[in-house]
Amino acid sequence: FGALLEQDPEIAELLVSELDRQRSGLQLIASENQTSPAVLAALGSTLSNKYAEGYPDARYYGGCSEVDKVEKLAIERAKALFGADHANVQPHSGASANQAVYGAFASPGDTVLAMSLDHGGHLTHGFKVSFSGKWFNAVHYGVHPETEDIDYDQVEALAKEHRPKIILAGGSAIPRLIDFERFRAIADEVGAIFWVDAAHFIGLVAGKAIPSPVPWADVVSFTTHKVLRGPRGGAIVCKEEHAKKIDRAVFPMMQGGPLMHGVAGKAVNFAECATPAYQDYARQVVENAAVLAQSLGEKGIRPITGGTDTHLSLHDLRGVGVTGIDAEARCDAAGIVLNKNAIPFDPEKPNVASGIRVGSPSVTTQGMGTEEMRVIADLIHRAVTETDGTPDHPVAVEIRAQVTELMTAHPAYPEPAQA
Ligand code: PLP
Repeated sequence: FGALLEQDPEIAELLVSELDRQRSGLQLIASENQTSPAVLAALGSTLSNKYAEGYPDARYYGGCSEVDKVEKLAIERAKALFGADHANVQPHSGASANQAVYGAFASPGDTVLAMSLDHGGHLTHGFKVSFSGKWFNAVHYGVHPETEDIDYDQVEALAKEHRPKIILAGGSAIPRLIDFERFRAIADEVGAIFWVDAAHFIGLVAGKAIPSPVPWADVVSFTTHKVLRGPRGGAIVCKEEHAKKIDRAVFPMMQGGPLMHGVAGKAVNFAECATPAYQDYARQVVENAAVLAQSLGEKGIRPITGGTDTHLSLHDLRGVGVTGIDAEARCDAAGIVLNKNAIPFDPEKPNVASGIRVGSPSVTTQGMGTEEMRVIADLIHRAVTETDGTPDHPVAVEIRAQVTELMTAHPAYPEPAQA
């Protein structure tokens, strides 16, 4: 860091102010986390210099002896962690991993059945502005209006009607466990590939806090930077019969040289995930999310589906008469970082939204527990209902002081103890 500070103080100071930002506010964005200093060290390494197109022992460049060892370790650790036949650790991101899955199993114009974005899916699941919506015939299922959980009967009916090449489960705002067995049965019935995009919850699977999609799905794609707590990136695990197709789809079909510093970071993270401490963390993430969801519900900020089984909950703000966009701004001014989110059957436009999404991964990484979740729910409720989005509102000032207390008791990236 000294070299950066000397050469480019403008950027160095921004890195420091971003660290300060992460240390000073409550980070409740469900897709964010605080990766370990060991992973950050791998990301900041000279592996970034190396071209390594291809796969270990079959590269298009010389000088790959060391990165080959790194990638083999990452692959072996991923396979062991998830009990998978095959792993590809090269996708640059979750979207790149998803691109590769489409590339492996579908051709332009083919039909794909996935969860709609406005009910909790993801852009890359056939949304019209994404490559996936432009190049494939995307048919979407949603949640049932009463349970607010995935409407499996609708999935089955649409699968029978449209005979998709791929059936995709997973998304960005699904608080409940997904019934992988049911999806597998539906896919088998219509001869479709069953793909799970586990980006959001794979960390809970790694920590054995929730059931795994790996035994059920043909292919599982995921990001490595959400609950999993690794470097920003993507990965894919699949059955042996699909291994070659997936590898060819990642490289050379969709990507060029892998980001070997990221691959090293993934290897470090996969080893971290195999520890008892990580399993404790994963269990606590789920417990914290449940208490946070329930406590907000008790204050009139209703959790969609009545709660959560995972790391995130989605809340309907109509009971307190505030929109998602206003709630996000009010929380932000009070030192609480979360995002507005459309709720199923939302009457508001997506950029206004009637809901917020809250997640427990970051605050759990900081060591907070259920007691702190109750305090946080109270702070969110006060920020949403008693402030106006200006940082100098007296209640916002009061909330920020309480946020500082929480962040001091449970710091993000604590300073190493001085010898
Ligand atoms: N899939 C799901 C379910 C996601 O939630 C996300 C990210 O939010 C992605 C894919 C895309 O990941 P990335 O932002 O790394 O491209």
